[in-house]
Amino acid sequence: MPLMKSWVASANDADHPFPLNNLPYGVFSVDGSEPHCGVAIGSMILDVTAAEAEGVIVLDDEPLFDLPFWNPLMEQGPAVWAALRARLTSLLAEGSDEQEKVEPLLVPQDAAELQMPFAVSEYTDFYAGRHHAQNVGTMFRGPENALPPNWLHIPIGYNGRASSVVVSGSDIRRPWGQLKSLDQEKPAFLPSRRFDIELEMGAIVGTPSDGPITVQEADDHIFGYVLLNDWSARDIQAWEYQPLGPFQAKATATSISPWIVTKTALEPFRCDTPAREHELLDHLKDCGPMLYDIDLSVTMAPAGKPATTIARTNYKEMYYSAAQQLAHHTTSGCPMNTGDLLGSGTISGPTKPERGSLLELSWGGKEPLTLDSGETRSFIEDGDTLTLTGAAKGKGYTIGFGDCTGTVLPALASPYAR
Ligand code: CA
Repeated sequence: MPLMKSWVASANDADHPFPLNNLPYGVFSVDGSEPHCGVAIGSMILDVTAAEAEGVIVLDDEPLFDLPFWNPLMEQGPAVWAALRARLTSLLAEGSDEQEKVEPLLVPQDAAELQMPFAVSEYTDFYAGRHHAQNVGTMFRGPENALPPNWLHIPIGYNGRASSVVVSGSDIRRPWGQLKSLDQEKPAFLPSRRFDIELEMGAIVGTPSDGPITVQEADDHIFGYVLLNDWSARDIQAWEYQPLGPFQAKATATSISPWIVTKTALEPFRCDTPAREHELLDHLKDCGPMLYDIDLSVTMAPAGKPATTIARTNYKEMYYSAAQQLAHHTTSGCPMNTGDLLGSGTISGPTKPERGSLLELSWGGKEPLTLDSGETRSFIEDGDTLTLTGAAKGKGYTIGFGDCTGTVLPALASPYAR
């Protein structure tokens, strides 16, 4: 599919993240006004809440956009999702006879503050990137036992905290936690010294389910995708995670990009999961291409210094698709709800510059990175800004996500000091 042209001129640039082919959904406010639902088009936002209030967009007898999140639309399902996209395309396409009606509903993105685009009902994080699991397993257990025995048979994960998910731009406070390194006899309660990122994609559940669903059904339930940074305190994790997995190490914050890119916008970029070493059981078998070809990168900028790109990889490096993760999540009968967020797991590629965490990039701190500013880093230092970006490249257009960024602030004084 070529670039679809819009009368919003900035949307027609081949490198612009928000052409008419994209139409990602967010929530914004201007100068502290009440937050509204909006769709990004070029450098503008179409105020969808106002468009509905004025009868320019009518999908249902009841309003779908009078709350500051996209969940009411998400739970409507694929037919209404398609109806909204068709209406937006008609309003914003070059030659639309409704341009005059729509122009007053546009807000410049520069003037808008972006907020959480949806209410996260629950958050589950997986560990489904082969290269990441191999790298981390090699560091902790050696190359022979790098992958746990279940890894090639199920997408393993843990239940995270919806309350900790924040929108891009939110500052991240370095956490305190109980740490114990191998050379210490006793644990100590300290600010994390090995605070890290995890480059992930987040899949958002649109329609709810109650009981086991197939991989194909799971794909149909997914509404869209965001970039996701699962901030991780490696030293807290190393001490706490056996045998029940990560807990406080992952509970500080998880940042997401501000725009939900719909599955429809990503349709031209579908690609297959890699060849299987072990045949998957029937309920997890691939049934069509369900990964996406999305270029991903991470930059790090020390306070007041320029950013250095520290990693580049691609979402197609995953071993399991989000649809397989969602299908697996339901096998026990677990109900899934509108607004459930599924983290893919850290996405790393096969070579060193493709590693999606500092733990891997610095090989556990043994091989510090040198930034363009000349500084070195094994893990995040106070004041560092970490930014994830993502882009799917079409013929003459780009599908972007908007940055997923956060600055790490120093730990507060001890929360238990007397
Ligand atoms: Ca993670």
